[in-house]
Amino acid sequence: MARPLILGAGPAGCAAAVELARSGVSPTLLDRCATVGDPLCGGFMSWRTLSQLEALGIDLSDLGGQPVDRLRLFGRGTWVETPLPRPSLGLSRHALDTRMRETATTAGAQFAIDTIRGISASTAHGQRQDWHGESLFLATGKHDVRGHSRPRQSEDPALGLRLRLPPGNARRRLIGSAIELHLFRGGYAGIVLQEGGSANICLALRKSALASAGGDPLTLLSRVAEDNAGFADRLGPDFSRARVESIGAVPYGWIAHETKPGLFRLGDQAAVIPSLAGEGMSIAVASGTMAARHWLQGGTGAAQAYQRAFAARAYRPVQMAKAARVLAETRLGAAAALALARLLPGLVIDLAERCRIGRDSIQSDRATCTHARPC
Ligand SMILES: Cc1cc2nc3c(=O)[nH]c(=O)nc-3n(C[C@H](O)[C@H](O)[C@H](O)COP(=O)(O)OP(=O)(O)OC[C@H]3O[C@@H](n4cnc5c(N)ncnc54)[C@H](O)[C@@H]3O)c2cc1C
Repeated sequence: MARPLILGAGPAGCAAAVELARSGVSPTLLDRCATVGDPLCGGFMSWRTLSQLEALGIDLSDLGGQPVDRLRLFGRGTWVETPLPRPSLGLSRHALDTRMRETATTAGAQFAIDTIRGISASTAHGQRQDWHGESLFLATGKHDVRGHSRPRQSEDPALGLRLRLPPGNARRRLIGSAIELHLFRGGYAGIVLQEGGSANICLALRKSALASAGGDPLTLLSRVAEDNAGFADRLGPDFSRARVESIGAVPYGWIAHETKPGLFRLGDQAAVIPSLAGEGMSIAVASGTMAARHWLQGGTGAAQAYQRAFAARAYRPVQMAKAARVLAETRLGAAAALALARLLPGLVIDLAERCRIGRDSIQSDRATCTHARPC
């Protein structure tokens, strides 16, 4: 059987590559970028993400990430704090994706560079060449390829914005070991410290919320700060000098229930959990690992079974995160969420657990693998 071709070397593609390569199959891992940039992301690695990476043999402890052990929730004029169930991490995507790529290639994946423009049957059409593979693992994340786009029709689509603020004692003292969620009408801003002490500030919001600030991210940030003194303290006086990156039309809540023959959809191409939950990377790693295990057991023909099984596994966390998002983005809902969190902190932790992806029912046969599959 021909070796799988993995399109996209983010967390999902790399997880699949590691699982396959460690089972004796050497996949081709293809990405449009030769070197890892710093993709737009909240940079919060949940306890579940960390345990899944650990199961893949990926250790992040030497990368200087910021330990995170508490959740701080901010609303209008009020905030509440609660411990997380297990240790988590603030880490840049540059550090994570670099480590994952290195692990995949060291394990035996062949890395190649090309930008995929479209897929037809078992061929991925790249800018440089056509790539043929009986089994294609689609892991291009936030970016769709022609013929396989995710639905994006929404009256008020979701956007992502990110700015990185330099290390400073004041911010370090204020944020410390927390993942902070600052709720505002139409969205939220997540703040976490990362390696080197810089603060990653990532907003997920409705397009209408940005439009109400004249379409200008800096005006929006100032308005959120006017309403929320804690957010203003974290932004500091110099935030307007920071570069604001953006991403449009994020199809939060979408899940792939079906696929085409031989096409395994992974990560954000399989399920898009609202980022408020901080579980997107976990879903990416879980889907990559699960797709690889299905392929190892059933080959190309296992694509549909994998897709359905993964959709079922992702359903509950995605629905829970959707409900949390709807609640958090209205003034009344946010106020109610904060009041509840103050009264019953256990409820917040329970919700946070319910937004996590569950365990894979297909066990890895790596321990007993005799490398019987041809590469
Ligand atoms: C605003 C926002 C904040 C978020 N915050 C968090 C958070 O704090 N914690 C968390 O766990 N999750 C978070 N997420 C979700 C998380 O970023 C994604 O779920 C995760 O990155 C998905 O991983 P992936 O491997 O599927 O895709 P990606 O990370 O998008 O990786 C895709 C890879 O494919 C490559 N690629 C893309 N197109 C092509 C092409 N045409 N040809 C070749 N290569 C291509 C890219 O270069 C990239 O390397 C957030 C998402 C958003 C929108």
